[in-house]
Amino acid sequence: MVKSEGVHKSFGAAHVLKGIDLEVAPREVFCLVGPSGSGKSTFLRCINHLEKINAGRLYVDGDLVGYRQRGDKLYELKDSEVAAKRRDIGMVFQRFNLFPHMTALENVMEAPMQVKREARAVARARAERLLDRVGLGDKVGNYPAQLSGGQQQRVAIARALAMEPKLMLFDEPTSALDPELVGEVLDVMRGLAEEGMTMIVVTHEMGFAREVGDSIVFMDDGVVVESGHPREVLTNPRHERTKSFLSKVL
Ligand code: ADP
Ligand code: MG
Repeated sequence: MVKSEGVHKSFGAAHVLKGIDLEVAPREVFCLVGPSGSGKSTFLRCINHLEKINAGRLYVDGDLVGYRQRGDKLYELKDSEVAAKRRDIGMVFQRFNLFPHMTALENVMEAPMQVKREARAVARARAERLLDRVGLGDKVGNYPAQLSGGQQQRVAIARALAMEPKLMLFDEPTSALDPELVGEVLDVMRGLAEEGMTMIVVTHEMGFAREVGDSIVFMDDGVVVESGHPREVLTNPRHERTKSFLSKVL
């Protein structure tokens, strides 16, 4: 579903991604961990067309991100083509970014109606189903300010799912939550994983990585230091940098 070959990304003189090689299979729960500033968010943003890579190749579902290949030549995608590709990718951020003036239901209905020109009744039926699935069937009429952080994040997940993405990116989805609200969000993500959603999850929740993750990559300073099955990497990290990081978060 995702293939990264030697991906580099710089911001001016700052070389942030220094040759990322990895693959994410369909239905895989792929956990990305590492210290702050190691390039995790930047990598997700590259996958989601929010940043352009400087070198290497990045594929989502077999298609090059940002380019079309004809023979040996690459052509940049037009904005409209990028927008179409982005619809297939759902992203959930640390901050929920819900529209404050819309109810939970309206937040979830918005993108399918605006972007896909979907009929209101169809969007509403799906939004109700999704909010029910994330455990908020009784909160559809609440505004974000009337929801807890964990509930808001579950609405944000439902909103991403409303576009029926084939890939979900989670960027520290529980980092901004009070500790007692983390579990309800991880439970929703676990449910998604069980249903076979392909997910890349940036997280410091090593319990989630161990129980739900199919693979884990430890990134530091723009490179993949170590990767493997979560139980293996979390129990027997090989590299000093991995050991040192895990000793701080476990
Ligand atoms: P992480 O998510 O692992 O904490 P980030 O991908 O957010 O790391 O950031 C990696 C590095 O890239 C940091 O040093 C950050 O300051 C830098 N960076 C990220 N985005 C930008 C940007 N738009 N302009 C300049 N530097 C950036
Ligand atoms: Mg980040």
